[in-house]
Amino acid sequence: MNRKTLPARLAARPFDSRRRLPIPYVSEHDDGSVNFAVVNGTRALECGLRRLCSACGQPHEPAIAFVGGPGGFHQRRYTDPPMHLECAHWSLRLCPYLALQRHRRRGGTEQTAAPGFTDMEKAEPVILAVTHGYRLDLIYEPGSQPPAIAFRPWPWNAATRLVYRDRVLTEIGPEPLPAT
Ligand SMILES: [Zn+2]
Repeated sequence: MNRKTLPARLAARPFDSRRRLPIPYVSEHDDGSVNFAVVNGTRALECGLRRLCSACGQPHEPAIAFVGGPGGFHQRRYTDPPMHLECAHWSLRLCPYLALQRHRRRGGTEQTAAPGFTDMEKAEPVILAVTHGYRLDLIYEPGSQPPAIAFRPWPWNAATRLVYRDRVLTEIGPEPLPAT
């Protein structure tokens, strides 16, 4: 990945030279380490409260994109914060396994995994869904600091289904929107 071809907001992120990828905002950890597979809970909470994109860390635009499996899409419930639509497309394109790995390994328990991601197979479709807002639920559990969070998107405006074809995540067309 050539950094010069990235959209400006992702090009402004610190770069992982080994993976040749921009480091998502929520993949930077409080001790200064980088872990693409584990979401920094404090950053995710910050993104949720301040309406920031989880990839580039900059304020949201009217279109807000959630990436996940069919479960989260139908329930409109996610544990990971959304992205700009542009950042979501680039994240899926840059690293086909990134979104899945991040959802599957949160460094916590199964309880923190988003619905539809608890036993994600690579054959599972990925749905990129767009809305214009969300509610943030804070879930206070003993020993859970910061609180667990659940993003509850507003009704969807559009959605796209992607599947793995020859190990490449490929758009296969619009996903029907559930009745609200
Ligand atoms: Zn972004």
